[in-house]
Amino acid sequence: MRIILFGPPGSGKGTQGDLVERHYGFPKISTGDLLRRAVRDRSPLGLKAETMMNRGELVSDEIVEGLVREKIANPDTRRGYLLDGFPRNAAQVRALEAMDGGRPEVVIEIEVDGPTLIERMQGRLTCRKCGAVYNLRLQMPRTEGRCDICGGELYQRADDRPEVISERLRVYKEQTEKIRAHYQAKGVFHRADGSGTVDDVFGRISGVLDRELARREADKAQR
Ligand code: AMP
Repeated sequence: MRIILFGPPGSGKGTQGDLVERHYGFPKISTGDLLRRAVRDRSPLGLKAETMMNRGELVSDEIVEGLVREKIANPDTRRGYLLDGFPRNAAQVRALEAMDGGRPEVVIEIEVDGPTLIERMQGRLTCRKCGAVYNLRLQMPRTEGRCDICGGELYQRADDRPEVISERLRVYKEQTEKIRAHYQAKGVFHRADGSGTVDDVFGRISGVLDRELARREADKAQR
């Protein structure tokens, strides 16, 4: 099964994607994390992507599609995988269907209101080493400035600055929101309320996933 976590920047896709990976064993493929790693390592791909990322614009389809194609080819995705931050426009939806069209999928939109999104992004700290995410108000690290998981340094993402946040939300509205209709028409679209604690939201997402997994098992048994 393919799980697509859908929702605006700051809605919690990365955090929830990690929990889904841990509980269900579907590897998380986050284009944002892969791009940030490439930028950190100063790879040719990272150098190409950095300017667009720092402006809050989308990186070229060709770059992100290449990253996803490579990850999907990995044997650990045989049972399924979770996409965080991809697809983000109509061309990427088509590319995904061309690279792995036959796979059953579930799309879950995490719904969070505008002021909460901005507050979450402004308070967000990210680990330079492993990409784990903390929040100055909601989820503080145990030691200030250090990641609980790997001890890496925590930093504020360049694109979590207020002027870039508004651009990312604009890009989301203009390009990404439109792909919702495609998944609604396909009958694979679900919503989860993204308010409350990380555990509250995970409870709602796992409710959707448990129902979907049970339904698929029942379908299989009937065939
Ligand atoms: P995210 O961590 O998902 O918020 O992504 C951070 C930034 O990486 C975005 O603002 C884009 O610049 C870039 N990015 C991530 N995923 C994609 C994608 N699917 N298509 C284009 N750009 C992307």
